[in-house]
Amino acid sequence: MGKTVYFIGAGPGDPELLTVKGKRLIGQADVILYTGSLVNPQILEGAKPEAKAYDSASMTLRQVVDVIRDGVEQEKQVVRVHTGDPSLYGAVREQMAELDRLGLAYEVVPGVSSFLAAAASLKREYTLPGVSQTVILTRMEGRTGVPEKERVEALASHQATMVVFLSVGKIEELCGRLQLGGYPEDTPAAVVYKASWEDEKIVKGTLADIAGKVKGAGICRTALVAVGRFLEGSFSLSRLYDEAFSHGYRKAGQ
Ligand code: SAH
Repeated sequence: MGKTVYFIGAGPGDPELLTVKGKRLIGQADVILYTGSLVNPQILEGAKPEAKAYDSASMTLRQVVDVIRDGVEQEKQVVRVHTGDPSLYGAVREQMAELDRLGLAYEVVPGVSSFLAAAASLKREYTLPGVSQTVILTRMEGRTGVPEKERVEALASHQATMVVFLSVGKIEELCGRLQLGGYPEDTPAAVVYKASWEDEKIVKGTLADIAGKVKGAGICRTALVAVGRFLEGSFSLSRLYDEAFSHGYRKAGQ
């Protein structure tokens, strides 16, 4: 029985947003697979000089699994580094299924997803009282399809806070379909390019004008589209800190 394989969320880009646990495991690794297209190379700076690093960008699932299996068979510590958190658009489940099939043990170390880094960069809260208490994380169909029931128009009917991954390249179509689905054209929208990286860019507007602004800024990848009235406008105060309400940790009037 070889060593446990770790799937590690590398965070959104800023190397300081890698978890302490993720950093420790990368430092101990003999074999590192990482998504070169999105993972900040600085994340790997803590690796041992003799560690072998593989950029999975040009590899197939079969090749990735072969590298993991060979490493485990040679009693090496193998880590698989994913951008953000592996549970979102990480293609991690198919790797887990292969490791299950091979009887290899693995664990997952979560990471800071880019949608969380985007809220931090925007200095906004996704769940505002009186505005929205729901966050929809979604994408438009690309090479990977989206189930019919999750069409962007259908999701838009809720007018909840929405964060759209992998879709900035089709932002014009996205904004049109969001409006068809129910968001008014003056709904605030923001695009965050490379949240938490040094070359991060933020573009703000509404569903009516953000597509043009994003094109003007030359952003066509590695960005999130956030939509909803959480971005601008009024909201209610929370009950948690309301002096008229009691809860388990505080009595009313205190
Ligand atoms: N697992 C990742 C998402 C991988 S899918 C996560 O949790 O963030 C890749 C998509 O994520 C990109 O097309 C882009 O939409 C988004 N993304 C990843 N890193 C980003 C960043 N730093 N800033 C903005 N969007 C990012």
